[in-house]
Amino acid sequence: MADETIGIVGAGIVGLATGREIALRRPGTRVVVFEKERQVSLHQTGHNSGVVHAGIYYTPGSLKANLTVRGVALLREYCQDRALPYREIGKLVMAVRQDELGRMENLYERARNNHVPDLRKVSKDEIKDLEPNAGGIAALHSPRTAITDYPAIAREFAKDITDAGGEVKLGFPVTGITNVPGGIEVASGQQRLKVDRLILCAGLQSDSVARLAQDKQEPRIIPFRGEYMLLKPDRTHLVRGLIYPVPDPRYPFLGVHFTPRVDGTVEVGPNAVLALAREGYKLTKVSPKDLLGLAAYPGSWRMAAQHWRTGIKEYRGSLSTTAFMKDAGLYVPGVGAGDVVRGGAGVRAQALDRDGTLVDDFRIHQVGRITAVRNAPSPAATASMAIAEHIVGAVFDEA
Ligand SMILES: Cc1cc2nc3c(=O)[nH]c(=O)nc-3n(C[C@H](O)[C@H](O)[C@H](O)COP(=O)(O)OP(=O)(O)OC[C@H]3O[C@@H](n4cnc5c(N)ncnc54)[C@H](O)[C@@H]3O)c2cc1C
Repeated sequence: MADETIGIVGAGIVGLATGREIALRRPGTRVVVFEKERQVSLHQTGHNSGVVHAGIYYTPGSLKANLTVRGVALLREYCQDRALPYREIGKLVMAVRQDELGRMENLYERARNNHVPDLRKVSKDEIKDLEPNAGGIAALHSPRTAITDYPAIAREFAKDITDAGGEVKLGFPVTGITNVPGGIEVASGQQRLKVDRLILCAGLQSDSVARLAQDKQEPRIIPFRGEYMLLKPDRTHLVRGLIYPVPDPRYPFLGVHFTPRVDGTVEVGPNAVLALAREGYKLTKVSPKDLLGLAAYPGSWRMAAQHWRTGIKEYRGSLSTTAFMKDAGLYVPGVGAGDVVRGGAGVRAQALDRDGTLVDDFRIHQVGRITAVRNAPSPAATASMAIAEHIVGAVFDEA
């Protein structure tokens, strides 16, 4: 008999890393992960860029900054230990216009504060040594930024949980969460299971699942689809490592970038288009329920009032390959619409406050015996093992 049972809603990388951390760190505790899909990591974890971020962008002292740097160290070691792909192919954050140099400098200072290893500024000539086909005027080079296979890592985490005597219950959409004497009852239709504590890691559904648990209404989740193009196989040689723009500080997204994948393909993307369904991987997928929820939330209108111009630009890129590739061509001149085919898409769970602010940092809080992850956008895959440590520390009140 287990001393205690901990339930986790969501078998994405955050829920599974957390389940694994509990199973390994607290023998005698049984872990049960509830997942609505028939396999793990079907949503954000299975639809991302596969980049292990080094910690360049994040506000020093924020959860994102601290947990990313720690997360990289844990993930690198785990991948080595389990022979999972982890390749330090390096990244250039590249300025293509003079007016970006100030922002690039700010980013450099931020990255230094975050102790990003081996980061340095590189000149136009040095860019050419690293990426002969790139077109920047100056850049930051992060040689330790890596690529990996997050779904494979998530599957390995799930195996660690079951090997330790826990369970990953697939096809179990949580529809009810009720406080009962001595614990919490988790329901899926007519099925019921009592746990001692519950951790919510529901990604795109994190606000609706939090509502089931009587947590506060805000922040709400706004789904942003990120669409990718794929370089044609005879053009992949044009890119050696990761090539990113200097991001626009008004947005939590990093801008369309060139991303070699561990399978040898090279993606261009993702853009950031407001999705009309939370799990809307196609432009045509519309969920009336999700749309009504968006329309009824004052934060959506405030966000739209502030960012409608960018929104229109992103939609244009979504509809036209030429428009999509226009900016990308500044980073690797010579690459245009004829060099790519449409690839897949992911949907980001982006938390939005009532005042229209896109929540930047990770948000995790406690409601009695329940811990709710309310915002875990990029780089939460990179940071997943450190997020797990953080949650376990909070749940069990460790020093
Ligand atoms: C396009 C894109 C690119 C990205 N690129 C990167 C990157 O390069 N590097 C990086 O570090 N991060 C990246 N991210 C972010 C990263 O993928 C996410 O931060 C991370 O995967 C979040 O994991 P999660 O477990 O919180 O969410 P998810 O992976 O979305 O998992 C949540 C799970 O909860 C389940 N669930 C929801 N509701 C219920 C319910 N009622 N009952 C049971 N189960 C439920 C869902 O089915 C899902 O499996 C990217 C994200 C996107 C979308």
